[in-house]
Amino acid sequence: MAIHPIVLYGSPVLRKKAKPVTADNMSTLIPLIEDMYETMHNAHGVGLAAPQIGKSIRMFVIDVSPIEEYKHSVPFVVINPHILAVSNDQNSYEEGCLSIPFLKGDVMRPTNIKLKFRDEKFVSKTLVFNDFLARVIQHEFDHLNGVLFIDKMSKTSKAGLSEKLQAIQNGSDRNVSDYARISGIEYLKSEDFLTMLNNNKTSEFKKIHTKDRPLSEKEIIEWKKIFG
Ligand SMILES: [Zn+2]
Repeated sequence: MAIHPIVLYGSPVLRKKAKPVTADNMSTLIPLIEDMYETMHNAHGVGLAAPQIGKSIRMFVIDVSPIEEYKHSVPFVVINPHILAVSNDQNSYEEGCLSIPFLKGDVMRPTNIKLKFRDEKFVSKTLVFNDFLARVIQHEFDHLNGVLFIDKMSKTSKAGLSEKLQAIQNGSDRNVSDYARISGIEYLKSEDFLTMLNNNKTSEFKKIHTKDRPLSEKEIIEWKKIFG
């Protein structure tokens, strides 16, 4: 099992339409599914789509058990999903995304969905999902089509975000400035940096410096939470 780096807003893989998984792929995908669970849990997420770790395939993992109402639910993988039906009922809820750190926004979505998909044994299933679980599934499903939650926010609520989004890409936002200084083009493209993220060792994070100063202990903890 391994923790993968989570790709950030601005990466082209997040805007690509992902390819379906075939039955032949499944044996090689089992270790990747395990890695995706580990990566999602490490980042304290409730869902993670394969494109978010750079794999453009139609697969995502879900674990909503950190939410009190769903504490008895078990993690599961969704492969090649099709949304067969959605309810007329919609609701609004504040969403976030591991690929767009520090940003949240209200998104309207259908309350209930009927989903056809394949499980980790490539067995076809059709199930109805409601409320928060239906929302998380729709958010992850969108990732497979290159759609992000910010695309679905109302124009007014999104208006204030364009600068922040731009800032994530170019590193000028104060909230992400430490990130930008470390993982700007120079660092993010470095194999060494990705290896460090993969290894997830605090001692290795300490080797990373911003341009001005070393990272504080607190920053290292925050970084590990967000970027695995
Ligand atoms: Zn997301």
